Parts: sequence; structure tokens; C-alpha cells
Amino acid sequence: MKSWTEWLREVVAGARPDRAGLRRMLELEKPAELAELYRAAYQVKLAEVGNQVRLRGLIEISNYCTKNCYYCGIRRDNRAVHRFALTLPEIRAAATHAWEFGYGSVVLQSGERSDPEFVDYIEQAVRELKELSRGELGITLSCGEQSAATYRRWFAAGAHRYLLRIESSTPELYRALHPADHDYAERRACLGRLREAGFQVGTGVMIGLPGQTVDHLVNDLEFFRELDIDMIGMGPYLPHSETPLGRAVHDFDPERQLTLGLKMIAAARLSLRDVNIAATTALQTLAPDGRERGLLAGANVIMPNVGEVEHRPDYLLYDHKPGLDENAAESRERLEQSLLAIGEQLAPGEWGDSPHFARRRGGSRA
Ligand code: SAH
Ligand code: SF4
Repeated sequence: MKSWTEWLREVVAGARPDRAGLRRMLELEKPAELAELYRAAYQVKLAEVGNQVRLRGLIEISNYCTKNCYYCGIRRDNRAVHRFALTLPEIRAAATHAWEFGYGSVVLQSGERSDPEFVDYIEQAVRELKELSRGELGITLSCGEQSAATYRRWFAAGAHRYLLRIESSTPELYRALHPADHDYAERRACLGRLREAGFQVGTGVMIGLPGQTVDHLVNDLEFFRELDIDMIGMGPYLPHSETPLGRAVHDFDPERQLTLGLKMIAAARLSLRDVNIAATTALQTLAPDGRERGLLAGANVIMPNVGEVEHRPDYLLYDHKPGLDENAAESRERLEQSLLAIGEQLAPGEWGDSPHFARRRGGSRA
């Protein structure tokens, strides 16, 4: 059997890690081996997508949700949450911040609703943001499962990327995390619908979930490959005290969650190579420099919150979410410094699509 270092060198050079290889990465524990893994992933990132961090301004537009995912703090049955929906002028103001910071692109995220008022509201928001920037601002949506007609309408209005995490690609684990009327097959079908509507599609999972094994995570990495997805947004699971799953977790280990999150980023970079991978807020929740460590393990996207601080306490998907009282300008300032300190650069105000998307379109991917 090849030595770990020899094998890793071949992967960096382009050999595709198989299931056993992915498992090997995810099971690493020795600090020296982990450092080697992150370095290898960083090398592939530099070669495939460079060291320019893609910044998206995140706007949490509404926390009304008709679903009841067992892990999420804004689930329908959490009566302790004060519900809000930003007005169109408020969305415009947040997007203007992002635009002025040179972010080039925004993500509108919300709880899930599919009533006609909500579909109109998103369509109108997308139209207005396009107008405001004379078509230049890139718009990503993350508003849950919808019909093909709705996705088509939102795409026609001007959104061009969509994030819909599969949460877990293993149907049994998915079922354990959701009530019976939340359907894995339907969520999976939505990813196909999004692609057909024309979107660049991002998906992802939660990492370190109760009941989740290394094999489940390997399934997830293989799922991303099979679907030939353009972007990955995944992060460690974090308990929320007002949720069924959060109440059942008694052995939460932040260090383990963080390491597993970083290993997944590195394994995804080494396996998928030219996709966009986000260093998510969940990493920052586990360590103040969690997102920076994500970038050094292979991620290349960060989504700073550009919404007003007023509504942030109402959008707590998990406990201890950071940045509740730091406004968009302050986070921009701090982030810029910390990125430069680790040798990363800020991408200029552009959409920052993944090279994978361009290659997939051009059919040049091997
Ligand atoms: N309603 C939309 C988008 C908002 S939720 C949707 O569900 O797709 C965005 C993501 O937050 C979810 O996909 C989920 O992966 C993540 N999330 C929710 N609760 C979480 C928790 N407790 N820990 C970590 N991530 C969580
Ligand atoms: Fe709603 Fe999304 Fe939270 Fe599920 S994860 S309860 S769909 S906001």
C-alpha cells in the first residue's frame, strides 16, 4: 500500500480519490497528517480557483418557515421566534451596502414558503436588485424547495445561482432529521429542477450530525460528484436549544466538529477540484478564525452578512451565531484584514462564478 504522503501527492496531481481514499482523509486525526491534508487541498485550490476569495453579501430576508426540520432554530414550531420579513426597500438597502463594498453578488436567504405572495415577493426583490445595479449585481437565492414554475420565474427575473442543501444525501439519515412529510426524493428532485431552469446549483450538507457516520459523509462527497454541482455550501451541525435535535444532543464537542468540517472542505476540494466551496458562518461559530481556517483547507467563498443588525437575533438557525451586533461595514473591515493576513486576496466586484460552471457549460471538463 502506498504511503499516505505518496498517495496524497498523486491526488494533488489529479488522481481521483475513491471511496476508500475519501474515508482515509476523513478519518485522519494526527495533527501533522491533518496539516498535510489541508496543505494539499490549498495547493489544488490555488491551481484551480486561485487565492481570490469570492465574497457574497448575505441578506437574511425572512424567517417565516412552513417547515419543521428537527435541527433548525427557525422551524415552524419554535414559537419563541419573533417572525419578520424585510420590506423591498430594506432588501434594496442591504444590497446597496454589498454593492458599495464591491461584493459583486448577493445571496437572498429565507425560511421556506411557497404561497403566491412569497413567490411574487422574491420575484420582485430580484427584479429590483437587478435594476438597482443596472444588471451588474449577481443574485443567488436560497429559499428552499419550490415548483419548476417558481424556479423558472425567479430565474427569468434575474437570479442565476441557487443554494439548496441536500442536508444529508443518505435517505435514512435525512428521514431521521425531518418530520415524515419532508421528502428526500422531493428535495433531490428540486436540484434537478433548478438545473433545468438554468441556475448554477449549489448544494451541501451538515457535518457531524447525531447518527452520522464517516460512510454517510463519503456518500455526500460522492453525491456532489454525481450531480456535477457547481458550488458547495456545507458546515458543521450546531445545536439549537429550542429544537428536538438540539435538546437530544448531550455530548457536543466543538473541536471535533470544527476538525470534521475542515476535513470535509479539504476532501471536497481534492475530489471536485474546480468548484466554489464556502467557508460558512458555522465554522466561525466554533472558532473566531474558523472561516479563515476553512479558506486554508480549500474553501474560496465567504458570505458576510450585509443585513441590518436589527433582525439578526431572529435568524438564529443554531445557538451562539456570531456577528449579531457587528454591522456590515465593521465586518467588511475586519474580514479584509484577516484575509490579507493569511495571504488571501479579495476578488474584485464580480459575480465570481465557479470555473467548474464555465467548464461544464463549455463541455471541457475531463
Ligand atoms: N430554508 C432554506 C434556507 C435557509 S436554512 C433551506 O432550508 O434550504 C439554510 C441552511 O441552514 C440549511 O440548509 C441547513 O443546512 C442550515 N442549518 C439549519 N439549522 C442548522 C443547525 N442547527 N446547524 C447547522 N446548520 C443548520
Ligand atoms: Fe425552514 Fe430551512 Fe430551517 Fe428547514 S432549515 S426549518 S426549511 S429555514
